[in-house]
Amino acid sequence: HAKEEGKNNFQFFMPTMNKQAHHRLLLENKLRNAIEKNHFQLFYQPQLDLKTGDVVGTEALIRWFDPEQGMISPAEFIPLAEDTGLIGQIGDWVIDAACRDMKALQAKGFPQVKVAINVSAFQFRHGKHLTEVIRQSLEEHDYPAKLFALELTESILIDDVNETLNILNSMRDLGITLAIDDFGTGYSSLSYLKQFPIDILKIDQSFIRDITTDASDKAIVSAIIAMAQQLDIDVLAEGVETLEHQAFLQSQGCDYVQGYLYCRPIPADELFDHWQKKQLTFK
Ligand code: C2E
Ligand code: MG
Ligand code: MG
Ligand code: MG
Repeated sequence: HAKEEGKNNFQFFMPTMNKQAHHRLLLENKLRNAIEKNHFQLFYQPQLDLKTGDVVGTEALIRWFDPEQGMISPAEFIPLAEDTGLIGQIGDWVIDAACRDMKALQAKGFPQVKVAINVSAFQFRHGKHLTEVIRQSLEEHDYPAKLFALELTESILIDDVNETLNILNSMRDLGITLAIDDFGTGYSSLSYLKQFPIDILKIDQSFIRDITTDASDKAIVSAIIAMAQQLDIDVLAEGVETLEHQAFLQSQGCDYVQGYLYCRPIPADELFDHWQKKQLTFK
């Protein structure tokens, strides 16, 4: 009987696997089509100086608008794009679009603040190409390198140290800013902070969420800020949603904040409207 049951389970299991693989394949084909037809748009979320309340940057976050399905979140398709290498093409587009959008915004009078784009490990492994695409886009749009930032995750830092350092240095030579995204969630050793030219640590939102109630999160965030100050690296807290979050971060001397408390990620023209209505500052 048990054997029969096992057999049934096995037969039941296989079609499920096929279904998942099938779903993936469908999504992959849809993604290829979306790249071809350019069904993407960048949304922007402001980053504010915690001492002055001023906008100092915006993070570009990709959105996929499918004609049938509507908006598909990056959490859904970026992992697939990374697995298939399609992130290469998407990533190149992001760099160009961010420069173009920001140039247009600033031409309308939006402040000369940084734009930060997210870079996946796949893109970083093709570091020469990535650096070249950034250099070309900056040049083509006549966009200043000092207003361009990359958000890298710790996962890029666990590969070959010399290779990583070479890529980071060539990016640094362009004059762009380098930030570590989701800081504290990776498995890399802290020693990279003294070896690599890192400008900003973005504390992951998972540490901020319960910062007012969870003693461990409090301790971790305080320690990150204190360490970064000693290393002369700036700190940005992600996922700031409440005034209580803000107050704690202020008390610890955090440099920058980003989160729903201030603004959700929105299209560039909406960002401009918000700024014009003076809704992007908390002071
Ligand atoms: P991330 O770079 O860590 O971006 C932060 C995510 O947190 C964004 O989700 C943002 O919308 C969300 N967020 C911002 N403020 C708050 C808040 O106060 N509370 C909460 N709960 N969430 C907040 P999103 O836009 O869905 O992006 C998810 C992830 O997808 C990003 O995480 C990033 O890793 C990736 N991603 C987005 N755009 C790109 C891109 O152009 N290229 C690559 N390679 N990855 C991207
Ligand atoms: Mg990011
Ligand atoms: Mg993050
Ligand atoms: Mg500092």
